[in-house]
Amino acid sequence: MKKKLIAGNWKMNGSLAANEALVSALLAGAGAPACEAVLCVPSPYLAQVRGLLGANSPFSLGAQDVSQHENGAFTGDVSATMLKDFGVRYVIVGHSERRLHQAESDTHVAIKVRRALAEGITPIVCVGESLAEREGGLTELVVKRQLAAVIHLNGHCISEIVVAYEPIWAIGTGKTATPEQAQEVHAVLRGQLQAASEHADRIRILYGGSMNAANAAQLLSQPDIDGGLIGGASLKAPDFLAIMGAAG
Ligand code: PGA
Repeated sequence: MKKKLIAGNWKMNGSLAANEALVSALLAGAGAPACEAVLCVPSPYLAQVRGLLGANSPFSLGAQDVSQHENGAFTGDVSATMLKDFGVRYVIVGHSERRLHQAESDTHVAIKVRRALAEGITPIVCVGESLAEREGGLTELVVKRQLAAVIHLNGHCISEIVVAYEPIWAIGTGKTATPEQAQEVHAVLRGQLQAASEHADRIRILYGGSMNAANAAQLLSQPDIDGGLIGGASLKAPDFLAIMGAAG
């Protein structure tokens, strides 16, 4: 059976001092977790957090975005090779905040996935519908369109990705999808992956959107929910550790 994956998305939060306190509390409390865990930190802190985690840590290092370009005149971008230099194992790609604020299209996301895979970094590909799209009955159409672009460009390599279903209306709002709502979409995504890859069953599909210590166990007990992408609750060590415990 595949291990569940619990990924913390720190977003644009943290400082040298705050990161040190958070990581040492996580290391002190993690023990030998049954799940896999990753911390997706802001790029300037990759080196610091890598150092704090040290060797043989129960946490892998993750980033929150990667450039669609290999190198060159792309001011402000961070390439997949640079992330690899810092020991990054996972990178979030196509988070709804980037799709919205940085105008990332499905095609951009698909190219970023290819860049990450080319460097041996596992992309955590985010898909999810807005409230208006859900209310308009478009959820399945939207998430399938978003994932189709990634499948189309990456072919059989998609067995190496992680998918995160993050309904936009649940992100940072305290409104979580019910386990049944989430499972329904996860099953759709699983079916789409199965049609594209014979290894689809090993692809982990995470749920994200106000997952917390209180609701994690129920969400994670669904058959197609293989982990969580955690925003707010990943900034509090006891909460993140409790979610990891629920994934055990
Ligand atoms: P949240 O964020 O847990 O704060 O809702 C999740 C995410 O955006 O990845």
